[in-house]
Amino acid sequence: MPAVADNIAAVLARIKAAVQKAGRPADSVRLVAVSKGKDAALLGEALAAGQLLFGENYLQEAEKKIAALGPGPQWHFIGHLQSNKAAVAAGLFDCIETIDRLKLAQALEKHLVRLNRTMSALVQVNIGREPQKSGVLPEKAAPLLAALQDFPHLQVRGLMAIPPYSSDPEESRPYFREVKRLALQLEQGGLLGRRYPTELSMGMSDDFEVAIAEGATLVRVGTALFGARG
Ligand SMILES: *Cc1c(COP(=O)(O)O)cnc(C)c1O
Repeated sequence: MPAVADNIAAVLARIKAAVQKAGRPADSVRLVAVSKGKDAALLGEALAAGQLLFGENYLQEAEKKIAALGPGPQWHFIGHLQSNKAAVAAGLFDCIETIDRLKLAQALEKHLVRLNRTMSALVQVNIGREPQKSGVLPEKAAPLLAALQDFPHLQVRGLMAIPPYSSDPEESRPYFREVKRLALQLEQGGLLGRRYPTELSMGMSDDFEVAIAEGATLVRVGTALFGARG
């Protein structure tokens, strides 16, 4: 595996090409460097190379790395979050991408009030209707988003989705398209896009170019930057 800096440059070049091909504005897609299982030294290399946005799946692991890297980078939480961990999460992250139930949002809001800070959030949608996956079913996104309007410290900006696993990126395309269609519907209902431009977090190492073609604004890439996880 080449150095992290080279991998970042390569992925950014691929993002740029995909954005251009889709005829979208140059700054419309951000790279979330997914760093689960990778140590702080490797993240430090990414940071030195100019990567300022990281995605972490596990709270305790993230806590250590956030402390190790210090101020500068932004952190998105992309794993499953238990409501009883909301106190810690509320103090650590810039965005929680995996809001999928009211109870979690309520717990976060309570602690954000206590900490006197705001936080961005995305609603995770189980776009493939997979029983084992987190996320709301697509038809439950609107009622959840409506309920989230009551939480002024939790700024809900869009949707996050993980399509069913496939080694063929084209198999993900209809799911990405469905996420985009759902977001447009929610915008029409006034539930997204009013206060903030709508964010769509979708696409990983194997399929981020397809996700960009279908409207992703955040791509979550791990393996292509940091190598395979052990
Ligand atoms: C691990 C992970 C990724 C990154 O996956 P890669 O295939 O390594 O790029 C993206 N999103 C989520 C939610 C993940 O857990």
